[in-house]
Amino acid sequence: MSDADASEDAAPTDREYAEWLDALADGGGFALVCPDGHGSLPPRRVCPECGSADLSRGALDETGVVETYSVVHVPSPRFADDAPYATAVVDFGPTRLTGVYREGGDAAPDPAVGDRVTVDVGERATDGERLVVFRPADGETGSGIER
Ligand SMILES: [Zn+2]
Repeated sequence: MSDADASEDAAPTDREYAEWLDALADGGGFALVCPDGHGSLPPRRVCPECGSADLSRGALDETGVVETYSVVHVPSPRFADDAPYATAVVDFGPTRLTGVYREGGDAAPDPAVGDRVTVDVGERATDGERLVVFRPADGETGSGIER
């Protein structure tokens, strides 16, 4: 499962995830929500919590809250050029997203539990693979002094 030879013949599940990334990049990120309100992400077919197959799309919150994170200094080869980097799990309302936390410039990533972040799609520095990227939400709602 860890060898990286799945580039050409993307499975349908990979395609659905790619389409979800497209939506996220366009600012239309969504979760799959069952009638009980459990959220999950494509390519899910059934709710992972209750097994319901009646999933509909629910918009993600515009900003999320960091629940956990870890800073990686010694990366796997696929992230070699990205280190140090931080991965975070962020609560976006209907569901949680896992992605990479980035701050502007060359600042070392320094997230904290409870931080508000926005979500976007970025590229892994190592090989250009698309991935979910979180950025601090402060810069957009704060004093705006950033030159
Ligand atoms: Zn459910």
